[in-house]
Amino acid sequence: MVRVIMLSPPGAGKGTHSKWLTQRTGATHISSGDLLRAEVECGSDLGRQVASYTERGDLVPDELIFSILAPAVVAAARHTGGYVLDGFPRTMPQALRAAQFGADLALTANAVIYLTAPEEELISRLLDRAQRDGRSDDTLGVIRHRLAVFTKQTAPLVDYYRGRGILIELSTDRPEAEVQADLLDGLQARGLMPPLTAPSRPDHAPSAGANAAEDR
Ligand code: AMP
Repeated sequence: MVRVIMLSPPGAGKGTHSKWLTQRTGATHISSGDLLRAEVECGSDLGRQVASYTERGDLVPDELIFSILAPAVVAAARHTGGYVLDGFPRTMPQALRAAQFGADLALTANAVIYLTAPEEELISRLLDRAQRDGRSDDTLGVIRHRLAVFTKQTAPLVDYYRGRGILIELSTDRPEAEVQADLLDGLQARGLMPPLTAPSRPDHAPSAGANAAEDR
């Protein structure tokens, strides 16, 4: 079963690619951002504390995110044996603690997917999403701050995971179906997914765009 970390700047597609990957593999999708937003929406004291960071585009403290994430990862391991961690870890202390936690419970991540796209493309996607979803942190000023936070606090994780030999780097500045195909290839090359049994191709093979739509 896959145990995957999705590592990417905001807007690079970690939510999108986490969703189809969990459908395809049966692993549990755990989005740190979704868990935090749910906490904010329920209006708890913890939620108010969380909002004071997320609204500015700052990361919530490591201790707080760990207390929310750890039980979700353990539950995922019990239910499906695998996870796609969307948005965690995001700092070196989080990554080191996650590695220790994973080693203690035999739940260590076996691949890290690093998604990239040019900065102007990231900004334009997030502004589009703001029109669609109205997320309070998708305003231009907060987006720029979140990108700076990524560069400073999260980007160092790329070399850390590359050094551990589990990094799969993919550009998402191209059709979604191509990204999906390369991501599956990367996981298969590492023995994390069975090779796709080649279906007999129909004469009217669907276009890449049609495949992408089916996968969502
Ligand atoms: P996301 O939905 O992944 O874009 O996350 C939205 C916001 O939630 C981020 O801008 C952070 O404020 C917070 N957040 C999500 N994941 C983490 C994390 N692993 N550590 C700290 N803050 C996080």
